[in-house]
Amino acid sequence: MSSIRRSLATTLALALAATAVHTAPPAIFGFSDASAVTERRAEARFLQLPSEARVREDHRFLTAEPHLAGSPRNRLLAEWQRDRWQAWGLEDVHIVTHEVLLPWPQDIRVEMVSPRTWHASLKEDAVAGDPSTALDAGQTYHAFSASGDVTGEVVYAGSGNPDNYDWLAAQGIDVRGKIALVRYSVPYSYRGFKALTAQQRGLAGILIYSDPADDGFKRGKTYPDGPWGPESHIQRGGIPFDFLVPGDPLTPGWASVPGARRIPISEAVSVPKIISVPLSYRDARVILEALEGPETPSAWHGGLDLPYRAGAGPARVRLRVSIDSQIREIQTVIGRIRGGELPDEEVILGNHRDAWVFGGVDPSSGSATLMDLARSLGTLLREGTRPKRTIVFASWDAEEFTLTSSTEWGEQFADDLRRRAVAYINVDSSASGPNFTSSAVPSLNRLVSEAARDVRAPGHRASIATVAAERKTREAGALPNANSAELVNNRLGSGSDYTVFLNHLGIPVVDMSFDGPYGVYHSVYDNHQWVSRIGDPGFRYHTAMTRLWGVMALRLANADVLPFDYRPYAERLATFAKEVEGRWTDAKGAGSGPSPFAPVHTAIQHFADAAARAHTRAASALAGSAAERAAINRELMDAERALLDSDGIPGRPWYRHQIYAPKFTYAPEILPGPAEAIEASDAARLATECRRLAAAIDRAAGVLGG
Ligand SMILES: [Zn+2]
Repeated sequence: MSSIRRSLATTLALALAATAVHTAPPAIFGFSDASAVTERRAEARFLQLPSEARVREDHRFLTAEPHLAGSPRNRLLAEWQRDRWQAWGLEDVHIVTHEVLLPWPQDIRVEMVSPRTWHASLKEDAVAGDPSTALDAGQTYHAFSASGDVTGEVVYAGSGNPDNYDWLAAQGIDVRGKIALVRYSVPYSYRGFKALTAQQRGLAGILIYSDPADDGFKRGKTYPDGPWGPESHIQRGGIPFDFLVPGDPLTPGWASVPGARRIPISEAVSVPKIISVPLSYRDARVILEALEGPETPSAWHGGLDLPYRAGAGPARVRLRVSIDSQIREIQTVIGRIRGGELPDEEVILGNHRDAWVFGGVDPSSGSATLMDLARSLGTLLREGTRPKRTIVFASWDAEEFTLTSSTEWGEQFADDLRRRAVAYINVDSSASGPNFTSSAVPSLNRLVSEAARDVRAPGHRASIATVAAERKTREAGALPNANSAELVNNRLGSGSDYTVFLNHLGIPVVDMSFDGPYGVYHSVYDNHQWVSRIGDPGFRYHTAMTRLWGVMALRLANADVLPFDYRPYAERLATFAKEVEGRWTDAKGAGSGPSPFAPVHTAIQHFADAAARAHTRAASALAGSAAERAAINRELMDAERALLDSDGIPGRPWYRHQIYAPKFTYAPEILPGPAEAIEASDAARLATECRRLAAAIDRAAGVLGG
């Protein structure tokens, strides 16, 4: 579920001339000079261990068969991971089972009943030379769609966002009781938000299709000749409202351990009540051709040679959808390398294992990288190099449904995690191309950029950071919106397994990938051949990710003082506050009297002062006593936790972080409390939310000794 990052990443790297440094190696943040020597030695050995050949082999095995969450194959892969991790020397290796709502399709039919009769194929074509595309990939569907049998006139509603329906209403087109046909992207918006919007507007059903302008032939060559989606490709996916609460919809906020209390499905806020089905453009085109009515705005026109008329009708479509509501078992695989000195402090590394079909890029590229990392760090351990802190490996399940197993595991072990977790580093898809993108909380910017500085880009003498900087400089001219000058994007939304760690538990997170042109997301063509021939021939970006991920993990695990710098966090907070306040003054005019944001600005100033003092103390603690280091490390860990509010954000109590939340589209909602109060034009709520936000920032400042 990682395509969001591709659209959100607006990164432009600092030009760190790593290649010019031939003299003393640059310092490592968080390490004394003496410790840095030991760390460099461990890293130098570690960097030799990743293996393209073994990643290829593991990737082939991971993608050999469809492995939907809940399937026997996905369980087999969990057991395989467990056994390999044990063999490689990982400790405390075990499988955690959760029992969760995991709807599977029984019967899905889409037919046009007028002006002529026609049945959508809902099938993807086999491709010559790629035998896996001839295997049974199961029925294409949207998980958490309602079941039912509805018939209605079709309206074409562009991207299916609220403004699209507003335009239709302005044309006098009544959409109630009708079937919406909408495009997947442009701009990217989570499919669950399209379903929610259609549900709210009173439609009877929704069809979401992949237009060739978004991920098909209008972008370039299609598979098997290129990376883009061929005419029959279908983007499966979940449509739950997990922007309200992720994880098993029947246990919102508590763990789905065997025997757990469950709410009735009718009370589950994250389960849609509308019927939704994904289509290829080959199927969608037949319906689009049968539409009359006004021609839609040019922005709604995709890559098909037809006028994209709005309807309604005369095309009428019948949707028959039968999806079970079964509770199924899912498996989280956990393994550890216990810390030698601080075993109760944990650095957590995770990737999801379950896929819609073969999961070539999403997620098996990341799963193969996770295996490479476990093998490499396991080897280091067997050679006698044990980290100071514990490193935890996690293979999540049912991410594709509703970030399920990471959420359930996070809820189950919330108390331990609050005490122990240093940071969580997520890699969903590791490689669909060569472009490094990363998102993180601002305190970890330096960790990410130093690791990118110290890992070489495949095929280059330069570092990942340098190559990323050059690429972004080139792209910046072409992209008017590429205005971020940073290697790391500090605007975190949702769409992968870091959500429970950041938004619910207040644990600092990093999310990374290597991206490229990729038009086969969640289709049968996202498989081993696509990855090995197109996305990452030679699997060199897979192992580059092993190296980046491992260097970050080792530095977090071995640092004398945790490599967290809250000064950039203070800078970002100031930017965010100004930005959100600007929306309020734009809407209301400057007005008289104090801004509701005044307490926020004051708190940010406290936080900036505290961050600066903490940075100074951290630097002197490098040469100080173990007790001094333990004290500052505790503060650095707890500061992010302090940004949580136990009541959550309005209407979404599960989402506790006061700086970050996902919008309903999964795009980042910065300062969600005030931002959503402004959207609701509610001055009283804005004042309350600004005070709540200021209190959280003050708490974090207090933790940092401010
Ligand atoms: Zn994924």
